[in-house]
Amino acid sequence: MSRYLGPSCRLCRREGMKLMLKGGRCETAKCAIEKRERSMAPGQHGWRRGRKSDYAVRLREKQKVKRFYGLMERQFKAYFHQAERGTGNTGQDLLRLLERRLDNVVYKLNFASSRKSARQLITHGHLCLNGRRVDVPDLLVKIGDKITLKNSDKSRKIVKEHLESNPNFVVQGWLQLDAAKPMATVVGLPTRDDVQLAVEEQLVVEFCSR
Ligand code: SF4
Repeated sequence: MSRYLGPSCRLCRREGMKLMLKGGRCETAKCAIEKRERSMAPGQHGWRRGRKSDYAVRLREKQKVKRFYGLMERQFKAYFHQAERGTGNTGQDLLRLLERRLDNVVYKLNFASSRKSARQLITHGHLCLNGRRVDVPDLLVKIGDKITLKNSDKSRKIVKEHLESNPNFVVQGWLQLDAAKPMATVVGLPTRDDVQLAVEEQLVVEFCSR
């Protein structure tokens, strides 16, 4: 599966908001969005801020979601069609589906500093899901799933160091973390309020349903 290899901050600058793609750096004054001279859209004409067309407004909302979760277009469309087949609100179902991705869950457990790092932790085989080693970051977790570490000192060291570096991190209510082991259990399903992205999901649906 291909993936975006360009500069992460450029994506935030394009969307005009923090997408938290770089872990610890995103919380510091080095963040491009915090620096006034770097916060404009990238490119030669980034300083131009004309009125956006309806199409452009909807496109940007879709791109925000895609970039926040680190998806390529084809993956995003597959999630959208899955959400469309459900009986609930398509926009909310889409976000709730994306929240259940294993890389997002690992990030929300504070095992890694960003979704990108979480993905790397998984693909390098440091984690187990229900006792079996996994290396697929886009697995969707369900209630009762248990996330543990591979039985190796290296895996424990990587995750414990990160947990200790950020002791005030608050784990969301649908996840239960035992930081001492460390291991986690999925005790519920995420709601719209658990999605930490300011996006108008209805506009995403309108864009994808054209
Ligand atoms: Fe985005 Fe700022 Fe993090 Fe760069 S440092 S990825 S601009 S939030």
